[in-house]
Amino acid sequence: MTKILVIEDELEVRENILETLKAEKFDVTEAENGFAGTRLAIALQPDLIICDVMMPQLDGYGVLRVLRQNENTATIPFIFLTAKSEKADWRRGMELGADDYLIKPFSTKELLAAIAARLQGRVALEKKHAKELKELENKYSNLLYYDSLTKLPNRLSLRSLFEEARAKLSLETQHSASNTGSSTDNLSAKGETLLEGKGFAPIAKPEAPTKKMLPVLCLGLDRLSRINETLGYSFGDLLLKAVAKRLTNFLEPGHVVARLNSDQFAIVPGAIAQRNEASKIAENLLAAIAKPFLLEGKEVFVTASTGMAVYPQDGQRIDQLLQKANKAMRRVKESGGNNYQFYIAVWHRASDEILALENGLRYALDADEFELYYQPQVDLQTGQIVGAEALLRWQHPQLGLVSPAKFIPLAEESGLIVPIGEWVLKTACQQSKAWQAAGFPSLRMAVNLSGRQFALPNLRQRLVQILMEASFNPEYLDLELTESIVIQDPKAASGILQLLKTLGVKIAIDDFGTGYSSLSYLQQFPFDLLKIDRCFIKNISKNPTNQALTKSIIEMAHSLNLQAIAEGVETEAEMGLLRQYKCDLMQGYLFSKPLPALKFEQLLR
Ligand code: C2E
Ligand code: CA
Ligand code: CA
Repeated sequence: MTKILVIEDELEVRENILETLKAEKFDVTEAENGFAGTRLAIALQPDLIICDVMMPQLDGYGVLRVLRQNENTATIPFIFLTAKSEKADWRRGMELGADDYLIKPFSTKELLAAIAARLQGRVALEKKHAKELKELENKYSNLLYYDSLTKLPNRLSLRSLFEEARAKLSLETQHSASNTGSSTDNLSAKGETLLEGKGFAPIAKPEAPTKKMLPVLCLGLDRLSRINETLGYSFGDLLLKAVAKRLTNFLEPGHVVARLNSDQFAIVPGAIAQRNEASKIAENLLAAIAKPFLLEGKEVFVTASTGMAVYPQDGQRIDQLLQKANKAMRRVKESGGNNYQFYIAVWHRASDEILALENGLRYALDADEFELYYQPQVDLQTGQIVGAEALLRWQHPQLGLVSPAKFIPLAEESGLIVPIGEWVLKTACQQSKAWQAAGFPSLRMAVNLSGRQFALPNLRQRLVQILMEASFNPEYLDLELTESIVIQDPKAASGILQLLKTLGVKIAIDDFGTGYSSLSYLQQFPFDLLKIDRCFIKNISKNPTNQALTKSIIEMAHSLNLQAIAEGVETEAEMGLLRQYKCDLMQGYLFSKPLPALKFEQLLR
């Protein structure tokens, strides 16, 4: 039953609402002041809150502010009741994150309509989509979860397999911890009851160390491209299959091998008690790979480089761990390959170039060295430009144009991304507004949001400020976020996104398909658009697996009521396929590269 909390100090109004809601079979709770209401909201976590603005002591704004800051209540739909019809009043409520308001006196019909509108978006639709999505995922599961060449689990499966291993580990750790109290229990728990069974007294044995770490290995074949070039890609594929087989045979049941991309594999062996056990595993793996492969009558030798990270020391989540393992692997490759190494937190990085960039970044904003380029987003059915993605460019005084792929990560690390990102938002909104004012058809403006920005406690306020200053209608703004940003703390992220959406902005999930989360996992976030990463689109016309994947992603996006947009469309053939798959929008060099504002304007004309 749907729970509704009504916070209203006027008895008569409160009882009227209660009566109406009970007649509609809602599970209603009442509070006669703001304090009681806040407490009840946190304790009950209702599906909807209806709250009066004018109340003594803690008024409706105060209640809303408290609830929006509490992660358990941040996303509960909130309807204000206000006696005043002044605009400033409800505007303040909406700014604080209210979802709707009713002006007193309101009719039963108005009340129920407002409630229905709020609940619909949340409960009913979500359930329907979840079911549909599950069916689609089952239908495509081979494609979505396994690598088509080696039949190994892919990156997406790795996430759930790792979660399983992690859950098992924590169970075992708990188990051994709860058993250390009694020595007999302790022994029997490990299946060592033999001595007891034969009438011996249990002997105190040295404690076996508890296994509490999970190593994650990233193994990359050395010089696969050389083999592809000299012996052909189909031979390379044969080799990859053989390597996959060897890796699988090497591991014990329950341990995981997955293929990450062309020449990289991830391995999650069982739990270990000490780091050097992981070294042993890596050593054996390398030795196994180093034995010659006999393929099509040829004897081939390959070597591999392995980087390792360890849960929980190096991270909690598989993507953090793999990122670190990968960094370690690249180090190994740089120093010649055929070796292994752990991730080390304090590698002194900073080549001279990076230091120079980092220094330069500090002054770039003041020195006006940034510029925004705009890349059109095109409706695949009509061929019209319907939006643009703002992409940052840095004109370095000595180095020339520096790629954002290079300096954004540095800006992230140093925190400079916060002022830079704010400048981007401001500039993009102003530019978009200027185009609207000049009479161009209203376009959507997409802006990339970094993780650091997303974590800012006053993000919503800053956004309101920027939108107001530019008098830009938030309905035209898309914020692009990558999966890694939202999955760090899904519950909080969901809350933040809901809050942002109350402004009217749309949220896009960027680079979809490159991370470790499936759509059914990501559907807990209120996204509006899904951007299919360009690695799927690249060569799509020649790659049946990518065709099938792209098609299924589009279908799933649609089942969730998300618009699908394909990135990196470079050829007519790719566009044709995407149109056939009913993809909504596209972006890519085929239509246009990102352009400076003036050039973009010419394109619009
Ligand atoms: P992204 O958000 O995935 O942006 C799309 C990238 O794909 C852009 O690279 C764009 O130039 C490129 N691209 C577009 N069409 C094609 C195509 O047909 N083929 C190919 N090969 N590439 C295409 P760009 O501009 O170098 O940006 C790289 C990344 O830097 C962006 O990836 C985004 O993650 C980040 N970035 C750019 N501007 C900003 C910004 O203002 N804020 C933040 N936080 N990140 C930004
Ligand atoms: Ca983007
Ligand atoms: Ca992207």
